[in-house]
Parts: sequence; C-alpha cells; structure tokens
Amino acid sequence: MSISTRRRESWRPTGARRWLVWAMWLVVACYVLVLLIPGEGFNPSLDGWLSALAMWMSTLVCWTAVARSRFMRAPLALCAAGVTSYALGDSYYILSAPIGGSPPFPSPADIGYLLFSPLILAGLTAVVHRQARTFPWSALLDSTVGSFGAAGVLAVVLSPILESAASGPLSSATVVGVAYPLADLFLVAAVVGIAASPRLAPGRWILLAGGLLIFAATDAAYALLQHSAAYEGGTPLDAGWAVGLAFIAVWANELPRGGGPANPAVAGAGPLAVPTVATAAALGILLLASQGSVPGLAVVLAGLTILLAGVRTQLAFRRVVKVADLRLLARTDDLTGLPNRRALHSDVPLRLAARRGGRSALLLLDLDRFKEVNDSLGHDIGDLLLVQIGTRLSEQLRSGDLLARLGGDEFAVLLDDAGPDAAVLAAGRLRAAMAAPFTLAGISLQASASVGIALFPDHGDDLTTLLRKADMAMYKAKAARSGHHVYVDSDDNRGQERLRTLQELRVALAEDQLVLHYQPKIELATGQVRGVEALVRWNHPRLGLLYPGTFLALAEETGLMRDLTTIVLRLALDQAATWQRQGTPLSVAVNFSASSLVDAGLPERIGAMLEARGLPSSVLTVEITEEFLMDDRDRARDILGRLRRSGVRVSVDDFGTGYSSLAYLRELPIDELKLDRAFVFPMSDDPRAAALVSSTIDLAHSLGLIMVAEGVEDAVACDDLTRYGCDQAQGYFLCRPVPAAELDGWLAEHRLAAAGPGAVLDPGGMPSIAGTAAGPGR
Ligand code: C2E
Ligand code: CA
Ligand code: CA
Repeated sequence: MSISTRRRESWRPTGARRWLVWAMWLVVACYVLVLLIPGEGFNPSLDGWLSALAMWMSTLVCWTAVARSRFMRAPLALCAAGVTSYALGDSYYILSAPIGGSPPFPSPADIGYLLFSPLILAGLTAVVHRQARTFPWSALLDSTVGSFGAAGVLAVVLSPILESAASGPLSSATVVGVAYPLADLFLVAAVVGIAASPRLAPGRWILLAGGLLIFAATDAAYALLQHSAAYEGGTPLDAGWAVGLAFIAVWANELPRGGGPANPAVAGAGPLAVPTVATAAALGILLLASQGSVPGLAVVLAGLTILLAGVRTQLAFRRVVKVADLRLLARTDDLTGLPNRRALHSDVPLRLAARRGGRSALLLLDLDRFKEVNDSLGHDIGDLLLVQIGTRLSEQLRSGDLLARLGGDEFAVLLDDAGPDAAVLAAGRLRAAMAAPFTLAGISLQASASVGIALFPDHGDDLTTLLRKADMAMYKAKAARSGHHVYVDSDDNRGQERLRTLQELRVALAEDQLVLHYQPKIELATGQVRGVEALVRWNHPRLGLLYPGTFLALAEETGLMRDLTTIVLRLALDQAATWQRQGTPLSVAVNFSASSLVDAGLPERIGAMLEARGLPSSVLTVEITEEFLMDDRDRARDILGRLRRSGVRVSVDDFGTGYSSLAYLRELPIDELKLDRAFVFPMSDDPRAAALVSSTIDLAHSLGLIMVAEGVEDAVACDDLTRYGCDQAQGYFLCRPVPAAELDGWLAEHRLAAAGPGAVLDPGGMPSIAGTAAGPGR
C-alpha cells in the first residue's frame, strides 16, 4: 500500500506558545515605535537592544516549533538555524557598534547575516521536498517561470550595485555588499515560486511570503543606500529585518499542521497569474535592455523566463489535446469503437432539440439468443460477433443517423427525419443485414435481432422516455417473435406502476423515509479522511432499501427534486452537527442536481441552515455536474460564486463525462474535480486510459484544483492514483457508503483519529477496510 500513515500533529499554538508569539509581537512593536521617534541615529543601547531582543524572540518561537514538530522537524530546524544565525550576527553588530555610529563594514556580523539566506533556502527546499511527492511538472514550471521573472526584475532594481561590482575593483566590502542583494534575489525567487504553486501548502505560506518579502525589500533598500553611502542606522528601515523574521517565526510556528489541500485563495485562475505577470515583466526587461543599460544578469534571467514560459505553453497545449482524447474515450465503446451509452445520452438531447418541429425515430435493437453464443462458443467469439454486427449495422445507416452500443447485446439507432414508415423500413433493413451468416474463427454463425421503435415527438420528447418506450416495444417484438414493433400506448404496463411509485415517493418525502449513507473521501498521500459524501437512500416500507438509481430520475421528472435535495441537505447538516458535538467534526459533500440549483436564494438558505446548527460553512461541499456548469454559465457562476464566497466548497462530479471546457473550468469558482469512475476502472489494463488519468490529474493541479478519484475498487488503482499524484480517492476498496453509526464504528475500529478534516488512518488499516466494509456489493 502506498498510503503513508502518519499521526496527526497538533499544530494549533496553545497556551504558552501563543503567549510567546504575542510577546514577540509586543517587542517588535516597541522596536518599531522607538525607531519612529526622530532621534540621533543608531543607539545601540535602545534600538540595538530592542532589535536583538525581537530577533531572539523570533528565534525562540522557531525552535519551539522545531521541538514539537515530528513530521517537519529537519526542515524547520534549518529555518530556525537561519533565524538564529541572523540574530547572532545582529547581536555581534550591536555589541561592537560605537555609540551613535556603525561598526566597520564588513565585519564578522555579516557572516551571521549572510548565512541566513542559504539556511532558509535549504529549509524551504526540504519543506517543499516533503510535500512535493505529488508535485505536478506544470506547477513546477510555473514556479520556475515566476522565480526567474522576479529575479530579473530585482536584478534591474539592483543594477547600480551589480554594475559597479562588475566594473570596479573587488574589495571585500564590494563582495559582501553584492552578496546581500544576490541572496535576496534567491529569496524573492523562492517566494514567488511558492506563490505560483497552488499545490504547495507549506502552512500559511502567506506569512512566509510576507516575511521574506519584507526582509528582502529591506535588504535591497539597505544595499542601494549603502552603495551610495547614504545609509543611516536608527531609521524605521531597520525594523524591516526584525518584522520579516517575526513573520517567518509565526509561519514556522503554524507549519506542523501539515500540508492540507491547496490554499483555496490561489485556486481557479490564480496560478496562471504568476507566470503571466512574470512573462510580461521579462518582456519589459528586454524592452528596457534594447533602449539602455540593463545588467547582463537581468537580461539572461528575462530570456530564461520567456523560454520557460514558451515550454509551459507548449506542454499545456498538448495536455488540452489529451483531455479531448479523454472525452472521446469516455464516449466510445471499447469493443466496437461505436459511440456508447454515454455518447447517446449526451448527443441525442441536442439532436432532438435541433429537430423541434421535425420527426425522429429511436430504434432499440437486441440480439436474439446472444447468451447462447457466449455460453457455447465463449466470450471471445461473442465479442467478435458484436464487432461484426456493429460494422454491418453502420453500413445500413445514413450519415446523419446515430448508432450506439448500449452495452451487452443492445444497440440503439437514432434515425434522423423518420416517421413510422421510414422507421419500420429501416428496422427491416437492419435485420436483413444481420441475416447473412457471420464467419468467426472458422465457425459460421447466424444472428437475428428484435427491434423496438419509439417515435419523436409522438411517443415522447426526451431520450429517457423514448428509450423506455422503445424498450417496451422491443420486449413486445421479442415475445411475439415479430422482428420489430412500433410502440403503442397499451404496451406501457409500467405506466401504472410508475404512478404508484410517484405517489409513494411523495409520501416518502413527507414522512422521512429518506436516509443518508456516507462514504469517506481519503487523502491518498497521508491516509487522512478529508470528509464524507452523503448519498441518499429510500427506506421503502415494502421494498426495503432503494438506491438512488431507482427513484432519482422519477423525482427529477416530476419536479420533486428540490424537495428531495432540501431533505438531504437537512439530514447531512444535522449529521455534521452531531459529529461536531461528538468532537469528531467531519465535512460533508451533498449532491445537487442541476434542477435543484435554479433557486437564486439557495446560497442564503444554505447559510441559514448552517448558522442554525452552529456549523462553519467549510463543513459543506456541494457536488454539481458539468451539465449544470454548461447549461447557463452566468447563473452557474453567480450561484456558485456566492456559495463559495460564503465558504462552502464546490466540487464538479463525474468529471470527464460531460462537455465542460478547460476555459470554463478556469473561470468558474470551483475547488475540486471528481474524476468519474469510468476512467478509474480501465486504468489497470489500458495504458492509454492510465496516461489520460495521469494527465488529467496534472491538468486539475495546474488549474489549482483538487482531484478526487471515484470508484477505486482495488489496491492497484489506489497505488496507481497515488503515483499519479491524485489528491483524494473514494471507492469500495477504501470504504463503502454506510450509515453514520457504522461510519463512526469504522473510523473508531481503524483507529482513525476522526478529528475532522484531518483524521489519520492507522498503519495497516486500509486493506482490512475493503473486506469489512458494509453495504451491498453493487
Ligand atoms: P455519484 O455522486 O457519482 O456517487 C457515487 C456513486 O458511486 C454512489 O452510488 C456510490 O455508492 C458508488 N460507488 C462508490 N464507490 C464505488 C466503487 O468503488 N465502485 C462502484 N462501482 N461504485 C462506487 P449511489 O449511492 O448509488 O449513487 C448514484 C448516484 O446518485 C450518485 O452518483 C449521484 O449522482 C446520485 N445521488 C446520490 N445521492 C444523491 C442526492 O442526495 N442528491 C442527488 N441529487 N443525487 C444523488
Ligand atoms: Ca457525487
Ligand atoms: Ca460521481
């Protein structure tokens, strides 16, 4: 199992640690105040003393963070060593400074100062290394482009120093003087690199980035002033170093909470901003260089930025092509290469909509006695037969008709512009085409099929209805051995049953017969339970537990979906509140059909429901489908935007099966994609599917989105997904959907510290989960 197992580290600074941080800020504030008082320059006994105290407080905060961290100890120790080194340098500087003046430059103090950057950089590299096992190349490239761009800009700013160093005599003062801005160049590059990486979550990086930026800016200003001999100690500028270090210390103090999902603030279009700005800056530098003097280093950095940005664009383009492939794969039947059921469901509604006012016919074709072929001659022969039938059927159709294999021995044909007569003629042609014997592996075989016909718009104006009616007609044809049959109303013996179910569903909604089962979403890199998905079931008084497949379509068709969603939401939030009260908070994801999202007041209603239960909005994730995103983009953006601003998370379900384009995904307020299980299944035996999954994961990451894989049914899939850098997984292998009580048991049994988004799987817990999980094996 590649799921690593580690204990959750307690990260929230408590008691003494919090006081320490407050004390540090107090000293920093006093120091800033003292510097703001106009005075006689640098005063070692006041300014110096406060500066050293502030830095030593930061050092202390850093080392306490090291002491209590288990997972990040080595990287944190490097950062703490950097801060210590700086504090040491500063103390030496103060002790050796004459009253009202400055100590000689350079001095041994500079060794301490200068060691700061390499140590911090080494620490950061180690932090990133820890978190970067699943770091996608695209994010890495973005960071590098950003780093080079930022370094280029800084090189322009520091050009007076860099130029004089290149031309003038090399004194130790010049060497040390140049070393500072060069080190800052690296630091700024590192900061921008981190900012550009949505997947990197080294704690609250904003603190680190802020700290390093303040620090580097102070350093650069100091270097420029020192260069023109205009630097004076004891001005507010001096506070920059202490303030920068304090921010870094606070970052270190919060780091042990570990890498969570990416910083939501940088999801969406954010990650693309850094490379874009960096490229623009690089172009600006080159433009400047063509007009005047810009240091060679800046030109080189700008060139590199543009080169890398070019590579990035190329790779992104190839990725887009691959994703188009993914769509095709999802819509193609493996065996025959024909469109599959999914393609039928996505294409036919569009075709029917385009034909409003016209006519079409849906033919459902089912082979007679195909099971006997499979049983007596084997599945290989059966497969060959299906392939040849597919070929013969397509030869009989016009270019505008659509032929799809629905699965097994069932095919569907949508005939464009066809009434009853044309449909019957076509059915005859298709059956005749199958009558000639097939030769398979030296065996001659005869096949026949029964065809059911439903007409648009006479028998229905949507695909579901047409399929249902064509299916009933097909059974009629089979039973009567008539070859084909056109649907008539009396064929619909299910109409009555449907009415009854509808009546019962109304009662179910009113009388609380709906229940929820919960399936955990598990973070692959750590084994942490990241939350659960709520899945609705109907506790039917007569038929027992019914799955959503048996009643959701009916609820949708009859306008009961919004009520159903409200009930599910209420049950899920009640449960979330119960978990919260038990001290084991878990976030829940609720499925929203497109129709239950039309209500513009939804975000406010959800807000009220959360508030009534005292729940933070981050406990709720809404799962929506691509269909909703595409139906009405402006409305989708509005509703999702308001939900997301309120703190609710947004996830796109069944990703890869719909038509949403990359551009939309980038624009829309989304946190997470759930890769449909249709892609996870074939991964183990189809390298093409595996490659597509892997590049789709990279794509999600490059857009700053979290990728969740659905339908993980075995260890192989789980390992592969972990290797591809998939963030989270959900599936029977990990845990089936189960009632809340059972889930509690599961969490406890596997000694999951069910401490909210952040529970951790115990070593060896995972494999047994698959075996013991409850729920029917569907
Ligand atoms: P979904 O949102 O894609 O939910 C995941 C489905 O996959 C669930 O089926 C779950 O039981 C199943 N599943 C989980 N792990 C595996 C696995 O390893 N292998 C396989 N083959 N399946 C797995 P379920 O509960 O029958 O739900 C089916 C669909 O019904 C859901 O698909 C969702 O679209 C819809 N649904 C469920 N609950 C609700 C609800 O409360 N509201 C709405 N609007 N739709 C719901
Ligand atoms: Ca879902
Ligand atoms: Ca799904």
